[in-house]
Amino acid sequence: MTVETVGVVGAGQMGNGIAHVMALAGYEVLLNDVNEAALGTAIETITRNLDRQVSREKIRTADRDAALGRITTTLTLADLGQTDLVIEAATENEAVKQDIFAALLPHLKPETILTSNTSSISITRLASRTDRPERFMGFHFMNPVPVMQLVELIRGIATDQPTYATCLGVVQRLGKTAAPAEDFPAFIVNRILMPMINEAVYTLYEGVGSVKSIDEAMKLGANHPMGPLELADFIGLDTCLAIMNVLHDGLADTKYRPCPLLTKYVEAGWLGRKTGRGFYDYRGDEPVPTR
Ligand code: NAD
Repeated sequence: MTVETVGVVGAGQMGNGIAHVMALAGYEVLLNDVNEAALGTAIETITRNLDRQVSREKIRTADRDAALGRITTTLTLADLGQTDLVIEAATENEAVKQDIFAALLPHLKPETILTSNTSSISITRLASRTDRPERFMGFHFMNPVPVMQLVELIRGIATDQPTYATCLGVVQRLGKTAAPAEDFPAFIVNRILMPMINEAVYTLYEGVGSVKSIDEAMKLGANHPMGPLELADFIGLDTCLAIMNVLHDGLADTKYRPCPLLTKYVEAGWLGRKTGRGFYDYRGDEPVPTR
């Protein structure tokens, strides 16, 4: 199977990054969102990020112009039906994703591969509601997409080998590296990363360390580029909590119990960088620990 055209559903922080890297690699991209403003913002973000790559001499001006020329935005989901590969990157809500696939199905070419960028929802369950579970898989980019090297390729129980091989070819054409994963809660990266972040929150909750000492300990003692609490703020504390709940529910093991302090921050609406406050307060010139 060859892929030349890619449909991206959802033009938020992940969708715009996916459209960016796909267009730069030469794919024709159709970018869809229900929100017209999100499509405008996505094109602005992609342009700004491509400009940054030009100024850092990572790409040429002609590459930027060609990439922008390959991206078309649309409010009509059915337009994506004729693409070779669809990557769904809409809001992390299973009902939203099911509705998108259901609405897309009547318009799809028989050979189109369907994928989801979900961080935690079961690929097998999403696939089972479509007419092509064998041509359905998880295509999980990391944030920020243009910078991060890894893509997890998640096989549902029914995913066939040609589908996997085709998606692997796309990852390679992007110049990225694929980690194959089976479809169990949170896959590989978040299965390992989130319990570590949750443990850092327990370490704070139990008073073993402060925000500053925990982050400094892991940066200098484990050679991590960011401390776990700083990273949690970057990811979004609501996202961290949602993934811990998926692990806790899906694997039914108390070792995945979300820390009550993480829940409390989410209940307060202190979700990290995106709301201006999380384990750090970002509203001043410098981030200030909140505990
Ligand atoms: P986001 O909130 O930035 O963007 C989601 C976009 O989806 C919004 O623009 C919204 O308008 C759009 N949308 C909602 N319903 C839609 C519909 N029916 N049709 C079309 N568009 C619709 O979210 P995000 O951070 O970009 O996350 C998107 C997906 O990527 C989620 O599944 C998330 O789990 C996954 N993901 C996120 C990260 C991360 O760090 N943020 C990392 C890897 C994977």
